[in-house]
Amino acid sequence: MDIEKLKASVIGEIDAHRYQIRELSLKIHSSPELGFQEFKAAAWLTQYLEESGFLVERGICELPTAFRGRYGQGKPAIAILAEYDALPNLGHACGHNLIAASAVGAGVASKLAIDQFGGSILVIGTPAEELYGGKAIMADRRAFNNLDAAMMMHPGAQDTVITKALACQALEVEFFGKAAHAAARPEVGINALEAMLNSFAAINSLRQHIKDKARIHGIITDGGEAANVVPAHSAGIFLVRAEDDAYLAELKGRVINCFIGAATASGARLEYRWGSICYAPMHNNLTLTRLFRRNMQTLGRKVKLSDPSQAFGSTDMGNVSQLVPSIHPHVAVAPEEVLVHSPQFAEAAASEMGIKGMLDAAKALAMTVVDLVANAEIVIKVKEEFGQNK
Ligand SMILES: [Zn+2]
Ligand SMILES: [Zn+2]
Repeated sequence: MDIEKLKASVIGEIDAHRYQIRELSLKIHSSPELGFQEFKAAAWLTQYLEESGFLVERGICELPTAFRGRYGQGKPAIAILAEYDALPNLGHACGHNLIAASAVGAGVASKLAIDQFGGSILVIGTPAEELYGGKAIMADRRAFNNLDAAMMMHPGAQDTVITKALACQALEVEFFGKAAHAAARPEVGINALEAMLNSFAAINSLRQHIKDKARIHGIITDGGEAANVVPAHSAGIFLVRAEDDAYLAELKGRVINCFIGAATASGARLEYRWGSICYAPMHNNLTLTRLFRRNMQTLGRKVKLSDPSQAFGSTDMGNVSQLVPSIHPHVAVAPEEVLVHSPQFAEAAASEMGIKGMLDAAKALAMTVVDLVANAEIVIKVKEEFGQNK
């Protein structure tokens, strides 16, 4: 069977299952679950995979809502990643219900390619993208070892294939001062809030002298108890982001100096803890992005390489992309003016435009699986590119 015919068959397979895939995405959308609590979503997705002939392992990497479905054996081993966590108060305002349904839809359609050419297709369920970096934990626990490629789609307001995502680490900071009456005896107090405010001032000064794409931002989570008491304690949470790990490491040192300086000036004692999860920058495999883009174009979609105005965030897919040739394309599910993480985006994630984007992405993902399993040379090219960029 030639490749174009096989691609037409996987498209037909997704069309034949479009109502089930749609129902799955709407069901997850109407029962939003936060990171590591996605029990219903994981149950529905694994059930669908099992009923479609996949061998399913639940609770992999000691994470109850993570899973792996496998069809076929051996190489190449291509993974399609599913996310299914929602946001506090906003529900599926990042559209992860669409990621989940497109992943299982693409996985099931890819069976045709595996039956024809061999290799294996895996659908890997990766919980808690938004709050806890589930893929970073799973990467440490070797969930993505021995894969030849890893792909997922992410809903957005435009069709693009290259995702820019920054390295990112969280920082918790506390200052310990000394309480005193703020009017009667201020001279014996040590003001932990002033230490925090001076830290913000120092970071604001530092910001002028850091690289363009780097970001430092934070909030105060404890600023004192009463206006007539010198605050004995203050606390804050910060995020430090940079384009690469080396600059992130440098920036982390300079940020900590801001807190040390403020502690010295105020006399407050500083304590800080870096978050255990570090989001890695996204490393896009251009060979894979070209294949996916061409497949989306044959479905009649206009796909840009990247969106110059695209905001820089961070994603735990970055951690996967450091280990395996990866893509994280965006698929338009909402008009351009709609912002991700807004109530309007949550609506779009259950709209007909959203379903259409999700189905097209599932088709293009499965067509890309066809490209990979049918052409050993392409897999070599994908891996060569990955090796050169390491
Ligand atoms: Zn997301
Ligand atoms: Zn998000």
